[in-house]
Amino acid sequence: QELYEKGLAKTNQGFGAKLNAFFAKFRTVDEDFFDDLEDLLIESDVGYETAEELTDELRDEAKLQKAKTRDQLKEVIVQKLVELYDQNGNADDEKLNYNPDHKPNIYLFVGVNGAGKTTTIGKLAKRFKDQGKKVILAAADTFRAGAVEQLEEWGRRVDVPVVTGAEKADPASVVYDATKQAIDGQADYLLVDTAGRLQNKKNLMSELEKIQRTIKKLAPEQPTETLLVLDGSTGQNALLQAKDFDKTTKLTGLVLTKLDGSSKGGVVLAIRNEMKLPVKLVGLGEKPEDLADFDAANYAIGLFH
Ligand code: GDP
Repeated sequence: QELYEKGLAKTNQGFGAKLNAFFAKFRTVDEDFFDDLEDLLIESDVGYETAEELTDELRDEAKLQKAKTRDQLKEVIVQKLVELYDQNGNADDEKLNYNPDHKPNIYLFVGVNGAGKTTTIGKLAKRFKDQGKKVILAAADTFRAGAVEQLEEWGRRVDVPVVTGAEKADPASVVYDATKQAIDGQADYLLVDTAGRLQNKKNLMSELEKIQRTIKKLAPEQPTETLLVLDGSTGQNALLQAKDFDKTTKLTGLVLTKLDGSSKGGVVLAIRNEMKLPVKLVGLGEKPEDLADFDAANYAIGLFH
């Protein structure tokens, strides 16, 4: 988990450093303190509702526990952040769904262009391949020039086959072929890359729906994961994206990328709190090994270091 800490260290320079500076500023814990704390949380992309809820709880907690000193309150904040995750799901929901009896387990990756879908698929393909699993990739982003080649490049790099179609081919037909191949070849995983942008949002959403329907025709219990890939530095817009995609594709979880370069990891809390969606993976760089499982407790505590 050294990698995880390395990546988070940068995130913490944002939120954590701000929080530390904040605590250094206040000598007494009064109403101004809580007002400023709420502002700080909002600025850190935790989200308005989440910030308000957290601050209210801290106010009560401070009264109850008579935790008036800054250090005591810091501890309470960490504790609250962890609780915020726990109350919104069970301990296991951050694990990727996998059923060894299903051949294949299909993971559908959705998200706007540049979020890190292709890169995440490449990294995950390497992880599964290293575990001795049989993996196939499907290049269903036939819209963006270069997207197919980019996935093929990852396929070569981590040595897994990539199913492609002709340029501008119907993405659902690529997914159909890939699903068939994965079933026939008894693959453990089929990872599907999709377009992040089409002529308009409506087209994109109906295409993603069609892809899901196509998968179900051949493999009724799949996809077992529909993961929204989000650039961790997107801020509050990430929450809007999550709501948009969830409407049509019914997401099972999130992948938060670029936490190595981001100063705003706070949006994780907003999404978790408002949508109850678990973060299943985090991207911490561009290399095949720069992928980690999300750990809420580490994350919350890490914010203060
Ligand atoms: P897609 O359009 O969603 O498929 O996004 P890509 O996978 O092509 O990624 C867009 C850019 O972000 C590429 O230059 C990637 O190398 C970069 N990228 C993806 N994930 C990460 C990450 O976790 N950290 C960093 N620093 N860069 C990333």
